[in-house]
Amino acid sequence: MNLHEYQSKSLFADYGIPVQGGEVAHSASEVAELARGLGGDAWLVKAQVHAGGRGKAGGVKFTRDLDELEQHAARLIGSQLITGQSAPDGQPVNCVLIAAAADIEHELYLGAVIDRAARRVAFMASRAGGMDIEEVAATTPEKIFNLAVDPVLGLQGYQCREMAFALELDAAQRKQLQVILEGLYRLICECDVSLVEINPLAILTDGSLCAVDAKINLDDNALFRQKKIADWRDPSQEDEKERRAQEFDLNYVTLDGNIACMVNGAGLAMATMDIIKLCGGQPANFLDVGGGTTAARVAEAFKIIVSDSKVEAILVNIFGGIVRCDLIAEGIIAAVTDVGISVPVVVRLEGTNVDEGKALLASSGLAITSAENLADAAEKVVAAVGVQ
Ligand code: GDP
Ligand code: MG
Repeated sequence: MNLHEYQSKSLFADYGIPVQGGEVAHSASEVAELARGLGGDAWLVKAQVHAGGRGKAGGVKFTRDLDELEQHAARLIGSQLITGQSAPDGQPVNCVLIAAAADIEHELYLGAVIDRAARRVAFMASRAGGMDIEEVAATTPEKIFNLAVDPVLGLQGYQCREMAFALELDAAQRKQLQVILEGLYRLICECDVSLVEINPLAILTDGSLCAVDAKINLDDNALFRQKKIADWRDPSQEDEKERRAQEFDLNYVTLDGNIACMVNGAGLAMATMDIIKLCGGQPANFLDVGGGTTAARVAEAFKIIVSDSKVEAILVNIFGGIVRCDLIAEGIIAAVTDVGISVPVVVRLEGTNVDEGKALLASSGLAITSAENLADAAEKVVAAVGVQ
């Protein structure tokens, strides 16, 4: 689950990480009053969306004028913000953060992720922070300093100092960085954070460090024990199809291709996507309906698949180990009849009651192509859309 900047900053504040003052506004009429409450003579309106790259996309506006602040907010609230990292049609802006402008002298980058291979929390930092950090990582990776925390020993003081030296910080800033790193490490462990990013971590003109932006992703599997944060979820920022799939306990991820896959079991789903690619096709999604799936879930999966306008053919690959193929065939027939599918459907069934299942499909009178095996299924579905 992703958090908004304002939610991430409130967690930062709880963990002693310095953040600039800010208030959330849901309508333009509130912003002048909120800005006056924050004080200062310059403010920013920041679109609250689950996507980075807002600055370059016009989603972060600086002004010294309260009328202009209101105009920026009015323009952003209710709009779709398209950034380099958002969905192609953008993310809805339902609220904005009004932030007291920080006097920035220099922009650092600080991030941390769970490094699964190393089985550690890995921090990354760079003196070259700000809006072009992706470019820095791609072209001059030596400008990024890495630090991995031993889970038994915890974050060590010397590690914080090494990072501070790499960032060319002075003595006071080194102490501050240690407080920030320790706060982040506690936040990551206590709140089941999988990724955190402060870009920029600003060096202000008075020399102090301040988190000017904030991004946090949480481990979905741990949300059951993060009740407060789980309540902050904003479904409006999530992919509608992925959200619906989650409701029905289907594992669904949208991809860029045009061949939809409906498979039971994550491993089989991966293999199905691989073989589609091998045959020259492009999968439109990853969809695992689960080992012990039911006809009802198959029907729901079909509805989600056909709501994607990119889909030009559907490959159903079900292995009837726990489930029976005849029940799945009934589910497919019901779904195809019910949803009214206009694209070719190729079905490969294998396992318990496979002959009954295939017979049901053959006698259904629907335009469903049966495949003999996985390779045959992939070839047939790719032939239906043409090699990409
Ligand atoms: P992002 O583009 O979505 O990452 O949004 P950020 O919150 O990082 O803002 C983008 C850029 O706007 C930052 O890299 C800064 O250069 C600038 N910016 C953001 N907040 C402030 C601020 O309080 N003061 C100043 N001077 N610049 C800011
Ligand atoms: Mg940023």
